[in-house]
Formats: sequence, C-alpha cells, structure tokens
Amino acid sequence: MSDASNFQFDLFVIGAGSGGVRAARIASQLGARVAITEDLYMGGTCVNVGCVPKKLFVYASHYKEDFEDAKNFGWNSQPADFDWLRLRDNKTAEIQRLNGIYNNILEGAGVTVIEGRGKLRDANTVEVGGKLYSAARILIATGGWPKQPSYPGAELTVNSNQFFYMESFPKSVIVEGGGYIAVEFAGILNGLGVATELVYRGPKILKHFDADIAQFAAQQISDKGIHLSLNTTIREIKQLDNKKLQVSLLHTDEQGKTVEKTVDVDAVVTAIGRDPKTSNLGLEDLGVELKRNGAIKVNDNFQTNIDSIYAVGDVIDRVALTPVALAEGMALARYLFAQQPINLDYKNIATAVFCQPNIATVGYTEEQARAEQLPVTIYRSEFRALKNTISGSTERTLMKLIVNSDNDRVIGAHMVGPEAGEIIQGIAIAISAGATKSQFDNTIGIHPTAAEEFVTMREPYIAPSA
Ligand code: NDP
Repeated sequence: MSDASNFQFDLFVIGAGSGGVRAARIASQLGARVAITEDLYMGGTCVNVGCVPKKLFVYASHYKEDFEDAKNFGWNSQPADFDWLRLRDNKTAEIQRLNGIYNNILEGAGVTVIEGRGKLRDANTVEVGGKLYSAARILIATGGWPKQPSYPGAELTVNSNQFFYMESFPKSVIVEGGGYIAVEFAGILNGLGVATELVYRGPKILKHFDADIAQFAAQQISDKGIHLSLNTTIREIKQLDNKKLQVSLLHTDEQGKTVEKTVDVDAVVTAIGRDPKTSNLGLEDLGVELKRNGAIKVNDNFQTNIDSIYAVGDVIDRVALTPVALAEGMALARYLFAQQPINLDYKNIATAVFCQPNIATVGYTEEQARAEQLPVTIYRSEFRALKNTISGSTERTLMKLIVNSDNDRVIGAHMVGPEAGEIIQGIAIAISAGATKSQFDNTIGIHPTAAEEFVTMREPYIAPSA
C-alpha cells in the first residue's frame, strides 16, 4: 500500500450508522485522520428507523395492557384514546436529539463529517457531492434496507422505515413477515389497539429460534389478540374508494389446497427481511466481491478483496444486530490503528424480540444442539408470573436451559416472558464464561422474581410423547 501520508485521510468511512460511527470515532481517538460521510441520517437504522424508535413504540404499546392489569390492583381509571401523532412526534424529537449527539460525538473526536452520498472512484478515492477525497483506507458501513415485495399493489404497503412516520394511524392492519421486525411491529400495533393480522408464508413464525420457544411465543401473541395467518401469502393489494386496502391472501391448508381470502384493512406493513445496501456505491466498477445477496465479502479482518477497502455491519450480512456492528467497527479501528488482532466471537450473542411478552435467547437452541449431536439435558419451566395471579392476565412465561450433559456446561438459555431481554443479558455473561448447571444451581435466587427460575430448575424436562 502507498504511504498513508500521500492521502488526505487515513480512514474514510461511508455510512454513519452503528458500525461506521464507532469505527470512525475509535480510529480518530487512536490518532488517525478520519472522515465520515452520510446522506440520510446520523446513527443509521438503529437510531432512526430501528431499535431505538421501535423500543419507544414498544413502551407505548404496553400501556393498554398495564391499564387493564391495574384494575385488579385497585386502580379505577382507564386510558383515554390513543394519540398516534403525539407519540410519533415525541419519538421523532428524541431521534433528532440523538442525531445531534452522534454528530457532536464525531466532531468532538476530531472526525471530519461530510454530508452526502459517498461513491468509490478508485481503491483510495471517494466522491461526495462532486468532490473527491483520498484515503489510505476506505470503510463501507452502509447497512441494509427493507426488502420490497413484488406483488401487484406492493407500492401501497408501508415498509419498516415508513412505519415510524405514518401520517395517519390505522384501525386495522396486516403485517407481512415472520421474523424479528414483523413480530415486533405486530405486537406494537396490537398493543396500541389496532386489529392486527400477522401474515406469514411458512408454518411457524420465528423459525430460527428454539422451536419450543417460538411456538410458545406464537401462542402468547395470539392469546393477546394478534390474528396469525400462517402458510399464507399476499397475492395482490387494491386501493378501494373508501381508502381501505383490499388484500387478497392465498392460504395453503394442511391438505396442500390453496384457498383465497380477501380482507379489507387500513394498512399493510411489510417486514420481509433486509438487503445489504451496496448498490450505486461504485463497488462493481472497482471489482469488490459481493455475495449472491449483494452483501460485501470480507475476510476475518473485515478486508475485501481490494486491500484498502473494508466493510463492517449489516452490509457484510454476518449477524445483522447493532451491538455486532459496534463490536466490528471497534475491532477494525483497533486493528488498523492500534495493531490489535481481531478476534471477535460470534458465539453466544444474546438477542431479544421485543414483542409482548419479550423473547430473549442466547447460545444453542435445542434443535441446534441435537443437530450437532451434542449430549443435551433440557431444563424447562413454564409458569404464570406472580403479578398475573392478581392482574387477571392469562400471560404465561417459559424459560428453558440447554445443558451439555457431558461437561454440565449451560450452552443455551431461552425465555418468553416480561423483561426477557433484561434477564437473558445477565445469563449470557454466565454462558460466555462457561458456567455449569451446578453453578447455576448453587446461585441463590432473588425472591420473588421470574429470573430466579433460572437457578431453581432442578429436574430435567422430559417432553411429553406425541
Ligand atoms: P428476518 O430475516 O428476521 O425475517 C424476514 C421474514 O420475512 C421471514 O419470516 C421470511 O420468511 C419473510 N420473508 C422473506 N422474504 C419474503 C417474501 N418474499 N415474501 C414473504 N415473506 C418473506 O428479517 P426482519 O426484516 O424481520 O429483520 C431483519 C434483521 O434485523 C433481523 O434478522 C435481525 O438481525 C435484525 N433485527 C433485530 C431486532 C432485535 O434485535 N430485536 C429487531 C429487528 C430486526 P422465511 O423465514 O420463510 O424466509
């Protein structure tokens, strides 16, 4: 590589989302001359149209149930109507505050922030708004973008970016998809009082989760009022005169017969996955290798086949989670500017689905452990949380531990229940540290909590025979 001093910057980052901002800030703090360019919003998907506004909406959606639960605890007042515009605009104000903070963090760290769309001109040159910038290394951290459906009327749908800015609030909605976003959005809408139908093409939602957990969660969310339409696809959407959308659904029944049904709703929200955002960046012209789905191919050091070009985060499509992009960005900056080797561990990444109740998980699912022919013992506890003995809510909690019977190590923990995300975060530390089931058992619980169940499951679970 040429002498870095020949270039304006040591590192030029395209995309100011979680991975890009973290890499830029750390690199600058390590003494590198760093620039970052962004054409949309500071903070990327997570801050603007992902984790942060989603969690704020999840809080909002929970109040309806909380008000209902409060009755048996002695409270008489009930909520007035829900005001979507107030929630939406308060959320947007908070996001704008965060955009400013991101900008300040970067500038405070000495990073040159350039507004505009970056495009590669050669292996060491980025063009933004007609200006050329040279850099010893270029980092692509452009993230992903919601997949668009292709059926007739797809332009009438709302994707997961638009969802956060809807002009009017629907009374009835179809959410399409069966992954994280679809399940979370269905939970938000149902909680906010919208008649919600979740339309998924396969037989089981959340198919990458522990099957027992996914099935239990599906039961819980359907008990809360979300109508689950499985083995169902959208054939067509038409706009009706009364502003409603007429949605033709195709359902394949158990005999394999396809039945068509038509539903009129106010909105169709799609959450059918996300594509890496790699088009129009100049990657093909430079010969940067891409995977079949458009994601950038990188080696263990996040380097592409062009030596000076690197990529991290959703755009490399390893694990599309904010904390992973942050870890990748930080590891890369330390590797490039502090000569620290990269040894990111993608095992035991805890994650949560913020539906109601939450799902959270870390480590092996039962199916993965069995597929690897690990000797496993399963511990499982299903119960009604103490609060619900009075609230009247029928919500139930499920916790599950996967233990390697050879060495007693806990290799997976899964939960469906209130605050599962908060609880599993702690369990993830124990699992990463290699804790054994005996160590779980020797841990004194905090009483009365749901979390204490994780240290009081004494008897292995034997699944009822079919
Ligand atoms: P997911 O990959 O989780 O789910 C996509 C869903 O859409 C799947 O159910 C998939 O079905 C379905 N699907 C795909 N293509 C089509 C199609 N053409 N027609 C109908 N359905 C289709 O993606 P999400 O969009 O939900 O989320 C993207 C990523 O963002 C997640 O994988 C996750 O990494 C991250 N995320 C994390 C969150 C968290 O941590 N809480 C929250 C939100 C997102 P099938 O399974 O049959 O392929």
